Formats: sequence, C-alpha cells, structure tokens
Amino acid sequence: MGAVGQSRKPGEKWFTRAWSKAIASTSYVAMSREEIEEFLGRLTHKLAAALLGEPFCAAPAAEVGAALVEANFTTPATLSKTIGLLGQDAIELLGLVSDEVLRTRIVELQAGVANGFVGALRDRTLREHEEIRQAVLDARMQLAGVGRRPVLDTDHSGLDVLDRDGFLRRLDEVFSSIDPDLRVGLVHLDIDAFKVINNSLGHKVGERLLGAVAGRLAECMGDLPAQLARIGGDEFAILTVSDQRLGDSLVSLAEKILAELITPLSFDGHELAISVSMGIVERPILAGTAVELMRDADITLYRAKSEGRGRWATYDEEHNAREVSRYTLVASMLTALERNEFYVEYQPLVRLSDKTVVGAEALVRWMHPEMGKLSPDRFIGLAEETGLIVPLGRWVLQQACNQAKSWQDKYGTAGPFVSVNLAVRQLWDPNLVSDVAFALESSGLEPAQLQLELTESAIMGTAQQPLNALRALSEMGVRIAIDDFGTGYSNLAYLRDLPVHELKIAGSFMAGLRVNGSNQVDERIVSALVALAHGLKLTVTAEGVETPAEAARLSDIGCDLGQGWYFAKPGPPENLDCLLAAAV
Ligand code: C2E
Ligand code: MG
Ligand code: MG
Repeated sequence: MGAVGQSRKPGEKWFTRAWSKAIASTSYVAMSREEIEEFLGRLTHKLAAALLGEPFCAAPAAEVGAALVEANFTTPATLSKTIGLLGQDAIELLGLVSDEVLRTRIVELQAGVANGFVGALRDRTLREHEEIRQAVLDARMQLAGVGRRPVLDTDHSGLDVLDRDGFLRRLDEVFSSIDPDLRVGLVHLDIDAFKVINNSLGHKVGERLLGAVAGRLAECMGDLPAQLARIGGDEFAILTVSDQRLGDSLVSLAEKILAELITPLSFDGHELAISVSMGIVERPILAGTAVELMRDADITLYRAKSEGRGRWATYDEEHNAREVSRYTLVASMLTALERNEFYVEYQPLVRLSDKTVVGAEALVRWMHPEMGKLSPDRFIGLAEETGLIVPLGRWVLQQACNQAKSWQDKYGTAGPFVSVNLAVRQLWDPNLVSDVAFALESSGLEPAQLQLELTESAIMGTAQQPLNALRALSEMGVRIAIDDFGTGYSNLAYLRDLPVHELKIAGSFMAGLRVNGSNQVDERIVSALVALAHGLKLTVTAEGVETPAEAARLSDIGCDLGQGWYFAKPGPPENLDCLLAAAV
C-alpha cells in the first residue's frame, strides 16, 4: 500500500473530532457531552493514528470495538449504524472520497472495530456469567454468616431500587431455582432521547431526573410483586418472579407507566415531560438462561424504539431470531469480502424474436461459512445500512466487467453485455463514475457492453450529484436501465430528465400472461409499458418470464428482451458459455 494522500491529508485532530462527533449520535449513554467527547476522543484518536500510520496497521481497531462494548456505548441494535459512521459515512463526512488508500484503510478499520465488538461481547457474556456466579457465592456466604445486605442505590432516596450488580445477582438466584413452575418477567425500560436532556441540562439534572423517574415507576408498580432496578445509564428493569403467568399484568403496567409519564415530572424547579420505551419478556425460567432473558428484553426494547418510541413491545420469537441473525450477519459481512465469500451468478437476457442470448444480469450471492448460500435479499439491505454496499458493489462491477470481457474475447460481437445492479447508496457515492471508469479500463471492456440497473425509487427526486453521475456515465457510453419498472412511483417525469436507455418490466406483471386471456389487465399494462418505452426510444426487457406462453405473448407484444426461469435460472458463467457456444 502506498503512502497516504500526501496532497490533502487533514490532520489527526481533525479526524478525531469529526469521527467522534459522528459516532456520538449513534448511542444513548448516561454521560455528559464532555465525558462522551473525552471518551470517544480517546478511541477515535487511536483510529485516526492507525489510519494515518506508516506502515498501516489495523490492529488498534479491535481495541476500539472492545472499548465501545465495555462502555455500553453500542449494542447489537446500533452496531450497524456505528460501523456505518466509522466507515462509508466517514469517507463521505471526512471528504476522503478521492483518496483510494484512505478508503481502503477505513474499510479495514471498520472490519477491525466490528471484530473487536463481537469478541468483546462474547467475552462479556461469559465474564458476566462468571461474575454473577461469584457474586451469588459471596451472597450465599454472607447469608450463612453476617447476613445479607440489600443492594440499594442511595440516589433514589429510600426507594428499593437494585443497582445493576444487585439485579444480576437477583436474576441468577431466580435462575438457580429448582422450581420447574417458576416464571420470570422483565420490563426493560429506557428513557427516549435521554442524551438530549443530559446534554442540554447537564449531567446532574439528568441524574435527578432519573431519580424522579424511579419514583414514578415505583408508584406505578403499586402492589405488583415486582423489583425495580436501575441497570444502566437511563435504563431500568422491572422484574417479576412468580408461579403465575404475569405477561398481561406487565403489559398493563407498561400502559400505566406510559400514561403516568405524560404528566411532566417536576424537580429542582424543572418541569420535564419524558417518554419511555419498554421491552417486555415473560417466560418460564426453564425456557432459557438469565443472559438470554436480558438479551431478548434488550432486542424487544429496541423494537419498541424502532417502531416509534414512547411505546412497549412484547417479545416476538421470530423478530428476535431475525435480529440475532441480522447482527451476526452484519458482523460477518465486514470480513466476507476479503475472505472471498461473495460470488456472482449470471442470468441470460434473451432476445425474444429469435431467442438469442444478448446480455446477462450479474446477481451477487454470499456463501456464508455457517449459513450456506445466502440470496441478495438477505444481505443487500444490511450492506446498504452499513455502507458495505459501496465496496461490495464495486467488486461485483469489476467481476462482471472482467466476465463480459472474457465473453467478448471468446465470442466476439456475439459476446453478451452485462447488466449490474446499483444500490441507492452507490448512486450517491462520489466515486461512482471513477469506479466504473476503472472497472472498464482495467478489464478492457467497451462501455457499451455495460448496463447499470437502478430502481425507480433510487432515482426519484434525484438530486444534482447522482444526476451528474448518471449523465457522466451515459456520456461514457454506459447504458442505464430502470429495474423493476412499474412497481415504484407512477411519476414518470424522471424519464424526461434522465439518460435512461432501457426499462425492465417487473416480473409481477407476467402472472397475467401465464394463462391465455385470464388477466387482460396485466397484458394491457405490459403492452402499454412496451409502447411507452418504444415511444421514448428505449428498449424493454420483461423480467420473471417463467413459461413459453409468456415468452410468446411478450414477443407478440413487441417486447425486446426477456429474462426468467423459462430461459435459465441465474448460475455460474459457464452456464452461459453452454448457451453461447451452442448458438455459435
Ligand atoms: P433484480 O435486479 O430485479 O433481479 C431479478 C431477480 O429475479 C433475481 O433475484 C432473479 O434470481 C429473480 N428471477 C429471475 N428470473 C425469475 C423468474 O422467472 N421468476 C422469479 N420469480 N424470479 C426470477 P435475486 O438474484 O434473488 O436478486 C434479488 C435482488 O437483489 C435483485 O433483483 C437486485 O435488486 C438485488 N441484487 C442482486 N445482486 C445485486 C448486486 O450485485 N447489487 C445490488 N445493489 N443489488 C443486487
Ligand atoms: Mg436487476
Ligand atoms: Mg428486477
């Protein structure tokens, strides 16, 4: 790797400030703004020093990931946002767009942070378990000897509020019980936007507010046999242990808490209305461990937050499983690219009039070491969220260009063009045009042999930057196609303003062509779309062609190309070679 961007290298201090400011917005921690700045300043100093260091070494990134876990700064739910800000967003925020070396380094640091995060989270779970066991032993010895001291947080003026350690000890006691009928319930509660209050009114006011909230919560709990605990900065837990199902009572309690907190809390001359989000889990103790209960309540709480805050959510097994695997996917995706776990399949684009293969769509897949083959629907959205879509998309583009060039070398003018999907975020990436130019140049592929597919939603309301990029690409000779046409917006104004060459009609319209005459509406829509495209001098591809009847109808209608299982499923490039060789 060469020396770092000599011409326009901003100083380390500048990186540190900009990075920590960005990350600060991804989490709610009970720290003052100064404390957050100091904490993140230290971590991002490490990253910035690594970024600019010669020789480059990504190792400190893992320490940053571990420190974020240690300080409860980021959770599985917010990890992808933090990683995004450390990575692709940082590249944009810090204006590093033209510096290839720094961009590559940032992706490596990003992967390092995620690895450190995952490692530390695993260690913490193990360690907490060990700590809980040790604490229980201590508590039992105390019981046998000096008697047990209740663990009270004196901040909450006389209320019976356990602190985090006390709460974990209590949980472990519960889960050590041998009573098979015992059930445990947990309301995990978090104050919405507490950071804003803390930042604007100061740490001390924040602490007083938490005391006042604890008082309200205790009032709401009333006679319910439940224990209140403050388990994190602005996080509370309400624990029930019973041989009865208390799920409904916990939901009623959550409703009551929401209703009670509508009345502003007054303290120290401040009147503050706050809202809270809650995750509720209720189950037999035999259903799992204390650590699983905490994790599930945390994920449920985040669901309540993501559904709009100021509400409660109850545990949903399916959602939970999705979140856990989502989190695992985000973490493993960051290293998947360098481990060569992605690969590209190609699906032929066939001229309907004579069934000649004229093009191929490149479709990315992920061979996950544990989960096996994953389709793009599983990971493209996550890759967009984390920003990884930019390097991943660049890689797919390069593969596709190389492949098309090799087809051209083998079959000359009969070699198919490649059509590559472009995500919204790639469209906004200021390096898109130079990335495409590089892929073409390094592969030796003619620009006319490359098509880029964008969905309607990606180009709707397109701002100047993406518009300029599309125009530059079109001027280079690259074709632009609108993917899944007809499923997005009905406002077609963009067709007037954008350099579009092709419409790909969404497969959902093909159903009506399947049985002769059964759905005239779909057929009319397809005919109208084909006429519209031809009127605008655009070519049309029909997606999702599954039967010979559909292919025949489309050909009659005048549609140019077809793509679908009827012709071939997506597969390795060799599958296309068979079709192309047969045609020569
Ligand atoms: P798409 O671009 O609309 O791709 C067509 C999808 O339809 C592919 O799904 C393809 O396997 C599927 N398909 C093809 N023929 C038929 C058929 O006859 N019937 C039916 N029911 N389906 C058919 P796939 O491969 O799962 O890809 C899903 C989506 O993921 C793609 O939709 C595209 O939006 C996205 N995607 C795939 N690769 C990439 C990539 O490299 N970058 C980006 N940004 N997105 C990608
Ligand atoms: Mg497509
Ligand atoms: Mg499509």
